Amino acid sequence: MKIRKKLLSLLGAAAMAVTVMAVAGGAQEVKAASNTYVVNSSVADVTGNVGDTIEVPITFTTDTPTNSLLGKLRDNKNNVSYYDDTVLKFVGTEFRGMPAGLTSTAGGNFSYVSTETSTSGTIILKFEVLKCSPTPVTLNIKDLYYTTNAIKTDTVNLTSKITINHPTDKRVETVTKEPTCTEKGTKSVKCGECGADLGTEEIPALGHTAGDWKVTKEATCTEKGSKNQLCSVCGEVIKTEEIAALGHKAGDWKVTKEATCTEKGSKEQRCTVCGEVVKTEEIAKLAHTWKTDKDTDKDGWKVVTAATKDKEGSKERVCSVCGTKETATIAKLTATTTPTPTATPGATSGNKNNTTTGTTSTGSKTTSGTSTGSTAVKTGDSTNVAGMVAAVAASAGILVICGVMVMRRRKVNR
Ligand SMILES: [Zn+2]
Ligand SMILES: [Zn+2]
Ligand SMILES: [Zn+2]
Ligand SMILES: [Zn+2]
Repeated sequence: MKIRKKLLSLLGAAAMAVTVMAVAGGAQEVKAASNTYVVNSSVADVTGNVGDTIEVPITFTTDTPTNSLLGKLRDNKNNVSYYDDTVLKFVGTEFRGMPAGLTSTAGGNFSYVSTETSTSGTIILKFEVLKCSPTPVTLNIKDLYYTTNAIKTDTVNLTSKITINHPTDKRVETVTKEPTCTEKGTKSVKCGECGADLGTEEIPALGHTAGDWKVTKEATCTEKGSKNQLCSVCGEVIKTEEIAALGHKAGDWKVTKEATCTEKGSKEQRCTVCGEVVKTEEIAKLAHTWKTDKDTDKDGWKVVTAATKDKEGSKERVCSVCGTKETATIAKLTATTTPTPTATPGATSGNKNNTTTGTTSTGSKTTSGTSTGSTAVKTGDSTNVAGMVAAVAASAGILVICGVMVMRRRKVNR
């Protein structure tokens, strides 16, 4: 204090011009001019984390070798710090690029005195970060001055902005707009420690949630259907797919026209689901039903004109359903044959007729074949035996005996 009083009197006598200039980063530079003594000082802005010890550097250059300085961080008379001391705690100083000297932080202020001088240096103010704060802490360094050789610079006030990072694990997020499947939401973020408003952040859209499929058009036998998959949250259609046509289901055959002995019939198969005709087929004509009575043989043949040795005979048969008449000739009788009125070649199977007498049918080949075929099946044992014997006999040339045997059997049967 003695030094200061002395200096003050000196300064009072000196005519001084002081220029205050703003410096980038919020720091200040002060040019204090006395008669021969000019110092430039500036302080940097600092950022730190809770729990850190941060360093606030004041750099200075002077045109005159300097050996002492003093600055204030606190008004002890009114018990007020020039910064928020609930956030920062002043813990010490360090003087870099300067000769060793006596230092003090008594009363929360700082001072330095050395026996040697320097024309530049960095005064480090150290603070422990106690907590974060909603806004950066303004650190005011007041009444800073430098002295040497009994002269003193003008006092200067410097200001540093100290930003404390908010602990990332103490963020409190409040959704202000819920995101939807397709739209972003928002949330406001606050520091859980100091309550600082950390702004608004986006919440990404959620995207759709694939839900159930819903049939929009049922497939039929012949036409494709379609289905949609909906979002289970918002109900929007997120996918559309085809449903394959089902194809017809063939049901039972149904006769649409019965076949007769003169006309083909038809039948169809319909789909059991939609009733559409799936397949159509013909039904073959039925065989004629030859009328039989006492004047005919089993195949319906009736002798119209008996054959003689000189002349062929004729026979005919009639369908009882459609009335179709079929005629055939009866071969001439051979010399060895005993003429008998009832000895018609048609009385036995067609095969036998052909073999023994050479009878030829004048009716359609198909009709004749069908009728003789069915006769052969219907014929009793005796006739079959007769037929076989006749065939054997014919090949052996003993036709006559055989013919007689057959006649007898037939008579017995009737
Ligand atoms: Zn905070
Ligand atoms: Zn959705
Ligand atoms: Zn169908
Ligand atoms: Zn017929």
